[in-house]
Amino acid sequence: MDRRNFLRLAGICSAGAGVLMKADRLSARGIPSSAFSVKATERCYPGPPRGSFQTSLTDLFKIGPGPSSSHTIAPLRISNHFRRSVEELPKDAIERARCIEVRLFGSLSATGKGHRTDRAILAGLLGQKSETCDSRLMDELADESRKFTTAINGRTFELGRETIVWDKIEHDYPFANTMVARLLAKDGTPLLEREYYSPGGGFFQWKGEVQPARGKPVHPYGSMTEFRKLAEERGKSLHEIILENEKAIMNVSDAEITAHLDLVLKTMEDGVTQGLAEEGLLPGPFEFHRKAKRIYERSRNARGEDGFLQQISSYALAVSEGNAAGRLAVTAPTLGSAGTMPAVVYVMKNHLKLSQDAMRKGLLAAALVGFLCKNNAAVAGAEVGCQGEIGVASSMAAAMIAYATGASLEATEVAATIALEHHLGMSCDPVGGFVLIPCIERNAFGALKAYNAYLMATSELTSQHWEDLDRVVMAMLETGKALPQAYREMGTGGLGVTMVDC
Ligand code: SF4
Repeated sequence: MDRRNFLRLAGICSAGAGVLMKADRLSARGIPSSAFSVKATERCYPGPPRGSFQTSLTDLFKIGPGPSSSHTIAPLRISNHFRRSVEELPKDAIERARCIEVRLFGSLSATGKGHRTDRAILAGLLGQKSETCDSRLMDELADESRKFTTAINGRTFELGRETIVWDKIEHDYPFANTMVARLLAKDGTPLLEREYYSPGGGFFQWKGEVQPARGKPVHPYGSMTEFRKLAEERGKSLHEIILENEKAIMNVSDAEITAHLDLVLKTMEDGVTQGLAEEGLLPGPFEFHRKAKRIYERSRNARGEDGFLQQISSYALAVSEGNAAGRLAVTAPTLGSAGTMPAVVYVMKNHLKLSQDAMRKGLLAAALVGFLCKNNAAVAGAEVGCQGEIGVASSMAAAMIAYATGASLEATEVAATIALEHHLGMSCDPVGGFVLIPCIERNAFGALKAYNAYLMATSELTSQHWEDLDRVVMAMLETGKALPQAYREMGTGGLGVTMVDC
């Protein structure tokens, strides 16, 4: 008997237990306007979006050095891509070359120093890859007085602070974050020039690029409502759908997907371990002390549940502090929110002792939430405020732990819904534009809310839960669009103003 028929038969056999089954089901639903004596609004929910996502697990979970996916991961990937383009040039062009130059425009030029974009660019030109870059080399690259050499096709190039030009902040390029990389001849003529853009989340593209075609998902969905329906009709579990789609979209094998998931989990766990061992000041324009280690040590003497709460916080702080210091982290969904999911991953592994297989399945549930939020709203503070970064990270983490511990699809959705709902309206107001205040502590709160959302969702009857994920994602988009620009990553509103003395 195949799985679908088994489920159908199981449904008939359990008809007598219909009340119980119904009690555990969640259908997309809203409160009828007739429930209110006075109509509160002229507007209402138009229904879940339709569509078909082609976002991949490797798009969502990218690994690279902090502190910012747009200002460090993308510039590193871009400069590494430019190096590979230079490698493909004919030998006589390389022989005529004098140097490599990278010009930064827009926000990359304005805040790149603070984000250490220069260090990331040099690493990429030296041949480092985002996911595996050597942290010791990254520390050495922070020394602006040093020169580094690299050989490309038998020609040695010197790299250092002169390689990078901090160009115009206001410009006419189509993307705010633009980089122009050049290989210059001895007379200054460009032998190769390429215009790159960093649109956020560690993605990059370049002018004239032909994007490689992707496959179509075998289980197309554009909302959680469609996903639920599809899972029921096809008799597939959450992780099966995400895995089968990934294989079709990216033309990759099970082994390749597993390897990526394991690397993501390992990078998250390593981030916690490493961060808990470090102390002292974080690099930045003002004195900002690490506190993860201290809070973790205090947790050992704490009474009752206080210790557990301190531990979750310390795990999230450890990764966020590491991210601020330029250590490797995972975009989950961004680097600003890179500490939330690892804290919950660490709890799953070290407190709940879940198997690697359960952890992978949990990561796939987190990916589902990330795909929905990314495609139907946004996951960037610049677009929808911090609800799109810490809010989405918390929602992904809640779904992850719920699904990994064996919760149903419905309870997993409720966990994600609760966690996202209670971040709605959160503005993005980083002090001075640095991923320090309030970002680092926000990750701890994102993790704590995720854990609480998981506990609530797996304890209540999902049929009694009014909100569904699609409606809350729509509310996030709606709220984000209404946020003034000053509360969307500009550092010119909220704490970005009140924390700075005149
Ligand atoms: S405050 Fe802004 S920069 Fe900081 S984590 Fe939130 S969205 Fe990211």
